[in-house]
Amino acid sequence: MEILNYINGEWVKPDAREYFDVINPATGQVIARTPLCGKAEVDAAAGAASAAFPAWRRVPVQDRVQYLFKLRDLLKANQDEISKLITDECGKTFDESKAEMVRAIENVEVACGMPHLSKGEFVEDIASGIDELMIRQPVGVCTTIAPFNFPGMIPFWFLPYALAAGNTYIIKPSEKVPMTMQFIFKLIEQVGFPKGVINMVNGTKDAVDGLLEHPVIRAVTFVGSTNTAKYIYATAAAHGKRVQAQGGAKNPVIILPDADMEMATKIVADSAFGCAGQRCLAVSLAVTVGEARNQFTELICDAASSRVVGYGLDAGVQMGPVINRASKERIEQFISLGSKEGADVLVDGRGTVIEGYERGSFVRPTIIAGVQPGTEVWKTEIFGPVLGIMHVSTIEEAIALANSHVYGNQASLFTSSGSAARKFRYEVDAGNVGINIGVAAPMAFFPFSGWKDSFFGDMHGQSMDAVEFFTQKKVVIERWPKEWTRKF
Ligand code: NAD
Repeated sequence: MEILNYINGEWVKPDAREYFDVINPATGQVIARTPLCGKAEVDAAAGAASAAFPAWRRVPVQDRVQYLFKLRDLLKANQDEISKLITDECGKTFDESKAEMVRAIENVEVACGMPHLSKGEFVEDIASGIDELMIRQPVGVCTTIAPFNFPGMIPFWFLPYALAAGNTYIIKPSEKVPMTMQFIFKLIEQVGFPKGVINMVNGTKDAVDGLLEHPVIRAVTFVGSTNTAKYIYATAAAHGKRVQAQGGAKNPVIILPDADMEMATKIVADSAFGCAGQRCLAVSLAVTVGEARNQFTELICDAASSRVVGYGLDAGVQMGPVINRASKERIEQFISLGSKEGADVLVDGRGTVIEGYERGSFVRPTIIAGVQPGTEVWKTEIFGPVLGIMHVSTIEEAIALANSHVYGNQASLFTSSGSAARKFRYEVDAGNVGINIGVAAPMAFFPFSGWKDSFFGDMHGQSMDAVEFFTQKKVVIERWPKEWTRKF
């Protein structure tokens, strides 16, 4: 597939000097080349989006969402084809890719409610003959910088809300997985948005810097690793932009002795090893409390060892590869480091080779027990199918351990006790919380939360937070004394 930019309603072949090889992580084959664009391409996209803005914001909101209804139908009709592309460039299984697109479509559906969601407020007679109202207006040209791990879903935490609210938009997909958005933009073209309303520029740091510095871009949304998130947040803010930046994670799951252990281990395994552990909501540290330790450890090791690993389009495969060779090597180094730091590698995914896919970047599910607080494998987001196990005596210690981490994306608890669940929900420092849930991914009508070093900004993606982010409030006070009222 040839990767092009989409600017002002046209497919544009950029004049890029450098290209990034897109590799199917299961087969090791180069399947596309991402042009690494820079400021010139960003400037063209920003110019088109800026020129399109005055007319687009004047399209009545109920007419703007008609474009999204059409996009939703096209995404649904092409869900299998998009999912196959996600599996090919990102590695996850076909079912995981399809589930990703369900979440993308949900966000389009919620954004179709914009006529209602973006209604203002009105108070009559704040003094005699004086009324006060608050209206929401679009912000202007907005942009999203996306990560590799959900190429079809994450842009939809933002894109449909931005457009429905009357903004114009530029997306910069991850250079590692540009094909999914390339295909989705073919659908966007079929929808027939006015020229310049929605644009796409491919690339990496140079393109991102172009977006962060561009004077017409008013709002930036980012999802990716914490170091990049901090950079995006600081740089966009320094250029006077509204910004939200979602970062990395290290998600704890606490297992109490009264948990349904079979259910807990199955769900924890799905969370830790689903999408090969490359989910920002994947649990990566299991904290067993008291007597939960032995049974949980035994069952989770069985679940890890029995997972079927392979190419995500092959029947029966439960876990695909990680994104690339560099990531496989980095994950394997962390497993070795865990061992050096004194932990026990109970199930070892190092050196995984899958027959027929010898050039693939596979790491089998891995369990490291006896992880200690403060060690590198405790601190660092490994972003692969590696679950660390820790042990404490009480729920208070477990919550304190969870809260001592710099990240706060998700925390989960497995228990059958209502009071333990309430205590956990109340005390834990994380923005997405699961009670007997392994991946606490908010539906599109809730914000995709995230605290501490997992998030920089205040309003999150999805739902009313996205409406707030992509609109600016204007408060108007009007005086209309009775005696000015003309009689007709
Ligand atoms: P990444 O930070 O490497 O890249 C994200 C985006 O930033 C890409 O578009 C990339 O081109 C760009 N980029 C990379 N380096 C840059 C730089 N130095 N300057 C400017 N732009 C740069 O992240 P990734 O590896 O693609 O994604 C995985 C990370 O994303 C993990 O840390 C994961 O936890 C996180 N993530 C977080 C959430 C969340 O909701 N909090 C969701 C998904 C993924």
